[in-house]
Amino acid sequence: MDCKDAIKMIPEFLNDDLNGRELKGFMEHMEKCKDCKEELSIQFLVQEGMARLEDGDIFDLQNEFGRVMEDARKKMKISRIINYLVFGIEAVAIVTILTIIILIIVL
Ligand SMILES: [Zn+2]
Repeated sequence: MDCKDAIKMIPEFLNDDLNGRELKGFMEHMEKCKDCKEELSIQFLVQEGMARLEDGDIFDLQNEFGRVMEDARKKMKISRIINYLVFGIEAVAIVTILTIIILIIVL
């Protein structure tokens, strides 16, 4: 993913609209690319800042940005675990089907 793609995905990231694979690419880019992370943090502050302005509660946004990034990282890990599980289940299913086929042939 290049910077152009990453920047384009920022609004989707902030709206929690990225799927597992998109999120992974996005986060990997953000870890490496200071410029894009800066842009992400600005867009986050603007979006959240606007929302909070109405509530009069704009404190601690920088901390919250850290929390958003941390949540995204956790979500990425969970989706990786789910992928492994799905892969595992598929592998078990294939082995089971093969076993049944072999049994049918042998018996
Ligand atoms: Zn970048």
